[in-house]
Amino acid sequence: MCGIVGYIGNKKASPILIDGLLKLEYRGYDSAGISTMENGFISNMKDKGRVKNLYEIPGIDDLKGVVGIAHTRWATHGKPAKENSHPHMDNHNIFSVVHNGIIENYQELKEFLVQNGYHFLSQTDTEIIPNLIHYYYVKQDKCHDSLLKAVHLACNDLKGSYAIEVLCKDAPDTLIVARKDSPLVIGVGEDENYVSSDIPAILSYTKNFYLLNDGDFAKLSKHSISFYDVNLAPIEKELKSIEWDVSACEKDGYEDFMLKEIYEQPKSVRETIGSRLKKGEKVNFEDIGFTKETLQHFHKIYLVACGTAMHAGLAIKPMLEKLCHIDVIVDIASEFRYREPLIDDKTLCIYISQSGETADTIAALKLSKMKGAKTIAISNVIGSSITREADYTIYTHAGPEIAVASTKAYTSQITLLALLCLYFAEVLESVPYDVINTIKEELLLLPEKVSEVLKDSEQIKNFANKVYEEKDIFFLGRGTDYTVSQEASLKLKEISYIHSEAYAAGELKHGPIALIENGITVVGILTDPNLVEKSVSNLQEVITRGAKTLIITNQEINQTNYDEVITIPYTNPLISPILSIIPLQLFSYYISKEKGLDVDKPRNLAKSVTVE
Ligand code: GLU
Repeated sequence: MCGIVGYIGNKKASPILIDGLLKLEYRGYDSAGISTMENGFISNMKDKGRVKNLYEIPGIDDLKGVVGIAHTRWATHGKPAKENSHPHMDNHNIFSVVHNGIIENYQELKEFLVQNGYHFLSQTDTEIIPNLIHYYYVKQDKCHDSLLKAVHLACNDLKGSYAIEVLCKDAPDTLIVARKDSPLVIGVGEDENYVSSDIPAILSYTKNFYLLNDGDFAKLSKHSISFYDVNLAPIEKELKSIEWDVSACEKDGYEDFMLKEIYEQPKSVRETIGSRLKKGEKVNFEDIGFTKETLQHFHKIYLVACGTAMHAGLAIKPMLEKLCHIDVIVDIASEFRYREPLIDDKTLCIYISQSGETADTIAALKLSKMKGAKTIAISNVIGSSITREADYTIYTHAGPEIAVASTKAYTSQITLLALLCLYFAEVLESVPYDVINTIKEELLLLPEKVSEVLKDSEQIKNFANKVYEEKDIFFLGRGTDYTVSQEASLKLKEISYIHSEAYAAGELKHGPIALIENGITVVGILTDPNLVEKSVSNLQEVITRGAKTLIITNQEINQTNYDEVITIPYTNPLISPILSIIPLQLFSYYISKEKGLDVDKPRNLAKSVTVE
């Protein structure tokens, strides 16, 4: 997830490119760079840090080029550093490329290119693209349109997601762009054209846009734009006039970042699965590379985190215990760090933090290292502080999360933890292979199922609008459904300021049922066939005492018993939190909206909790 800008026209490109990047900075902010076509060569200026740092690069004001590409990065492969910043050039300085997305098969392609004499200067997945284009370019003997053909051939080899812009020294009046699963638009001016990841970055220059679809290519000059489909057959596109206001489109047309991020979950789950899991293959955690002996050496696993990340740990505990037959303890980082927990070199400690800057989680990690434990960090931000402390780091690929209340980071954390758990089980051979295989198949279906859950939000919105003035709301579930209750209750507190509690449904009559009175709202989550009957009985107990009920389920239940039932697709109960939380994220969101609150920046809360 990053921001891309491009320009081709008669004006000096660099100020337009930097201005566009500043507007796209919310998409990525760890590095920035621009390439412009200068008299006979491509200039490439870049550095880690914010876009404004570009102004400090010597010579940047002297650039005269009228064609250029630019990028603000949100690292996925390789830490934020000058050499990993975009644009990336090929070994012969003929091509310059910016890329948004993840190339899942970059290792394979890198090996292929190394065998063919190429070398690499960065740790990014992106650097293979300019070199692959070069490889095909020289192979073609510079025939007509060899630039476009080389880009097309290179893209055919790429697996994963990309929006790219390509500059070529031999074609100084041309800009080539392509996209698959990452956004890209083209803005049309008079004797000039613009490219951008999204509309706002260039809305001050033009209101006329072409929207690229997945698989599309475009060749731009200052006077013309030609479009091509996935087979490079020419296609026509309709020019659209946009009348948006700029702040609305920074959110891709969504009202708030939180809503946008909720709707990004099919992509964030898919990108987190990425190249770690492919149909019929073993789960790939080469970057951890534990042997059976190493894993057997661990007597217990700690999952330590704060807030939503801790709930992701809770959600995966049942799966780790069931598949790996190992004790799992989930702990709150601020408790763990002061409790002298019983850990030693036979303990594996996994730390989860979206930002990778959570002070308590980092302190807890340092403590466990001192006691000899092996540590794995799970973070969404490449190169963040926690990744520098842990023995191993694995990343969720959720893209930047701007809204304070976490949504897509949570589902990506559970996805990554589920993959890790399957990997452990495979290495340990702790359960029959068909058990592992069934869950792998279910995981691969999740992005589609997440899309399905998101298709219709009207029902949840209507229920939210009925209960937004409540003082208390309760969430009930058993097993993984209880863990989702905890996360749903936290979400509601965070953004609606409604008091809320989550209870294990079986625990209700040991005290909390005293709080149930006529008219109170209770949300029940029922996704585990083995537990559904038990939870239904507990829900009956609250209905008898006058509760209004909202049910999230994938089971066949008697719907007439409840005020509202949201049906979601079935998946294995061990990973069902990834689906069942989604209607409840929307539930909190719509309640907060109905109350007229600031959904993205709730009171008293900060996105990254860097203090104790
Ligand atoms: N995967 C690329 C990188 O890590 C692009 C990341 C982005 O979209 O910013 O450099």
